This record gives sequence, structure tokens and C-alpha cells, in this order.
Amino acid sequence: MSTSQTTQSARPAIVDAVPKDLFVGGSWQQATGGKTFDVLDPATGEVLCAVADASPEDGRRALDAAVAAQPAMAALSPRQRADILTRAFDLLHRRIDDLAALMTAEMGKPLAEARGEIVYAAEFLRHFAGEAVRIDGGYQVSPAGDARFLITKQPVGVALLITPWNFPMAMGTRKLGPAIAAGCASVIKPAPQTPLSMLALIDILREAGLPDGGVNLITCTDAGAVLEPMIRSGLARKLSFTGSTKVGRILLEQCAEKVLRTSMELGGNAPFLVFDDADLDEAVAGALQAKMRNMGEACTAANRIYVQSGVIDEFGRRLAARMAELTVGPGTGDGVQVGPLIDAAALTKVTELVQDAVDRGATVLTGGVQLGGAGYFYPPTVLSGVPRDARMSDEEIFGPVAPLTPFEDEDDAVVLANDTEFGLVSYVFTNDLRRALRMAERIESGMVGLNQGVVSNPAAPFGGVKQSGLGREGGAIGIDEFLETKYIGIAMPK
Ligand code: NAP
Repeated sequence: MSTSQTTQSARPAIVDAVPKDLFVGGSWQQATGGKTFDVLDPATGEVLCAVADASPEDGRRALDAAVAAQPAMAALSPRQRADILTRAFDLLHRRIDDLAALMTAEMGKPLAEARGEIVYAAEFLRHFAGEAVRIDGGYQVSPAGDARFLITKQPVGVALLITPWNFPMAMGTRKLGPAIAAGCASVIKPAPQTPLSMLALIDILREAGLPDGGVNLITCTDAGAVLEPMIRSGLARKLSFTGSTKVGRILLEQCAEKVLRTSMELGGNAPFLVFDDADLDEAVAGALQAKMRNMGEACTAANRIYVQSGVIDEFGRRLAARMAELTVGPGTGDGVQVGPLIDAAALTKVTELVQDAVDRGATVLTGGVQLGGAGYFYPPTVLSGVPRDARMSDEEIFGPVAPLTPFEDEDDAVVLANDTEFGLVSYVFTNDLRRALRMAERIESGMVGLNQGVVSNPAAPFGGVKQSGLGREGGAIGIDEFLETKYIGIAMPK
């Protein structure tokens, strides 16, 4: 591993330019009492800027603004909604350099990855601009022939959108794209670690022509206190959440009271399976992608790497060599491939998980020792012989740590892969087509990568089974999460 760690990472000018207030009813407004909280640069631990800290009353104002705007949003023609999304797509691309610098400053990912996320985020807007004008319906003759059925789709109503810090913009467009395309007004709340990318995105949607109140944004430090009354008010008809399973469970309970529609994109514990017939170089390249994208801070990150016993030593050698070559440092640094973790708590958790695995018998092939200095850096790490009872077999690592465990055959691999409460994504590397399909059918996950280490694509349905969530984002069905189906029966006596 090479490090290009410095105590300073450049503070881009866009940090000052981006709005820092709440966006309510089409205007930027301070939080009650002018309250703010600090946003930190994870590469240095230093304060970047302060943004508004909403109170429950501010949350309610934002919700009321969305309720007031809902008729106007529903009245926009599909083409008008598509045009707003297309203009926002163009603006994201035009400002990609500034937006990438902003994202790296608040989240830490290397600039190249930040640019990649903005392209990915923009793609959701383009995708749903297409879906907005393809919302379908139906006309059907009743089985007895004495009636006709008209089937139409309508916006579900006001949506509450809650996003995490790991993909500060894409998790926003993955919700705002379909919400706007469907004609739903919304209130969005980003994570407090990374509000700046969302503030910039909302300003772009304003500029793209979204009606006042069509999207409202609140930033806050006490999410539970601000969001719970909004959810329980029943004024919103939909909650779309991306975050941990623990918080997802709490929100599902709150939504039950007024029976809100929910979409839950929750935690993962992805198994990554390598069979002895796989192309090992491809499997190592896939593991690097599946593990190291976003420094391992992804719900889709390979969390458990199972390798068939005949090839595990060679796979471990090659993976450790590639991981050791990665350059760690502030995301703004030249050639940096691995940025800092999001905060001190994340660094502590990763360190503890590695220590726990080692205490239970795992061997460190590379990394495994915290880097000193400022910022929350952890080195790319490969562990072999990670036992089933290690904490990281059950918990999301959310860091650059690849734990290797051997398996014997397909049945063994399926048992290991499915031995988790999660079911977001799995990866299978094999050159045997039938084996690949058998595994894809037997593994309990919403998505499967066959011989590929990244599955995320705005045109594909993203989501999990078991405790990884409910519903799908993206793809042709992503817009349905924000639509209600209405059936109109028409008597047609013979
Ligand atoms: P988190 O702690 O669950 O927080 C997610 C968001 O929910 C944040 O904005 C958070 O704000 C807010 N929140 C927390 N408690 C809340 C409450 N009681 N009421 C309303 N909002 C609340 O997750 P995270 O640490 O930010 O993100 C990492 C997790 O997200 C991982 O588990 C990862 O797998 C998952 N994730 C899933 C997907 C997917 O598509 N399945 C994608 C990305 C990430 P505060 O921070 O202020 O509490």
C-alpha cells in the first residue's frame, strides 16, 4: 500500500457557494432560531462549513409546503415532469467538476469515484424522465362481458425521502427521480455527515423548473425527533428510506400507524463466491470492485468472500497483492484510490471487527493496522481463515476489509451464502453456465452479479429480500413505488 496522506485536503470553492439553509416551499430559509450544525472533512476531521439544523416545527413546515404543492405536482403533464428531470440531468453534467469536489470534501471518496457517482446520480434523472412519459394503464372486458375496466395510475401523494451518507447524491436522485416522474411532492432529508451534495442537487432541481414546494429539503441532527411526527401525521402517503436495517425497522413501525406506503433499501451482507473453475484474474478484479468501491462503504460491498478450497490460497495471494498496491489518501490527492472512512465511529468499528476476527483465528494477509495521523484512514486489508463466529460474518464491515473463508462444494457455498438475515446482493464467479444459474436461483438475494463485481445500474431494479428491504429502486418498476393503481369499473349491460 502506498499512502499519500497529508494533514490538509483542499477546500473547494463550491463549499462556500452551495446553499446551507432549509429549502421550504421554493425558498431557502433558516432553521428556527438560526440553529446550525457543522459538516466535517473526513480527510482531516476539520470543519468544512455549517448547515441549518431543523427543528420538528421546521420539519412540519416543509411537510405542509409539500402538501400544498401536491396538486401542482400531480397536474404537471408527464412531458413537463420529464423536461424538468432532463434539465437537471444536463446541469449535473455541466457542473460535474464542482459537484465532485463538493462530494469528495464532505464524504471523502476519491475525486474519480465522486465523478462516477455524479454520472450515476444523473442517470437516474434521465432514466425516470423516460419513465415519466411511459406510465401505463389498461382497458379490459370483464370476464362476464357486462362491464369494462379502466386501469390508471396516479401519484401516491406526498413522499418523505430519507437518505444515507455513503452515496450522498445518487441515493437522492434514485428517490427524487421517480417521485418527480410520478408527480409526487416530497420532503427529503439527507444524512448529517453529507448534506452538501443534496443541497446542491436541490438547488439544481429548483433551477430546472420544479414548482415551489415540489421538493423540500431539511437537514437536521435529531432525525428521530424531526421525522417521527412527520411520519405519524399521515399527511405524507409514502416513505422511501435508504439506510440501516435497524433504523428501517423503527420507521416501518412508525409508518404502520397511518399505513404509509414504504420502500426500504436497507443493509447488506453480500457473499462473494469464487469456484475453482473461475478465471482467477477476473475473480480478483471483481472482488476488488465489489470490496473497494466507495472504500467498502457500500450496501453492496462484498462482506464475506467464500473461495473453493482448491484455489483459496492462490486467490488470497493475488487479492492481497492487488490490495496492497492501492494508494490511500485524501480523495483530492493525485492517484488516490482509497479515501478516508466517513467518521471516527466508522474507523473504530472497522478496527474492532478486524481485531475480533484475528482474535478468533483469522490471519492478516495485508493491512490490518490503523494508519495514524489526521483523518479516518484504514488500509486495504485481506484476512484469511475468517471463522463463522467472527462478528464480520454477521455485521456490515463498511470498510476496506476482505475476509476470506474456504468452502468445499455448491451445497456448502449455498448454506454459507444464505446464512444471514440480509439478502441484498450476491456475487458468483464461475465459468460453468449451469452452475452459475443454479447458484443464482438458490441464493437468497434481490440481485446477483455473475462474473461481475458491480450490479448497480439505474435501468435495473435495485433492492433486497429478507431484512435487506422492501420494494425496488430504478428499472422500469422503480416508478411504481410512487404510483397507486386505480381501477374504474364501467357498467356495459349486454
Ligand atoms: P442509518 O444510520 O440508518 O441512517 C440513514 C438515514 O436515516 C440518515 O439520514 C439518518 O440520519 C436517518 N435516520 C436515522 N434514524 C432515524 C430515525 N429514527 N428517523 C428518521 N430518520 C433516521 O444508515 P447510515 O449509517 O447513514 O448508512 C449506512 C447504512 O445504509 C448501511 O446499513 C447500508 O447498507 C445502508 N444502505 C443501503 C442501501 C440500499 O440501497 N439497500 C444503499 C446505501 C446504504 P441521522 O444520521 O441523523 O440519524
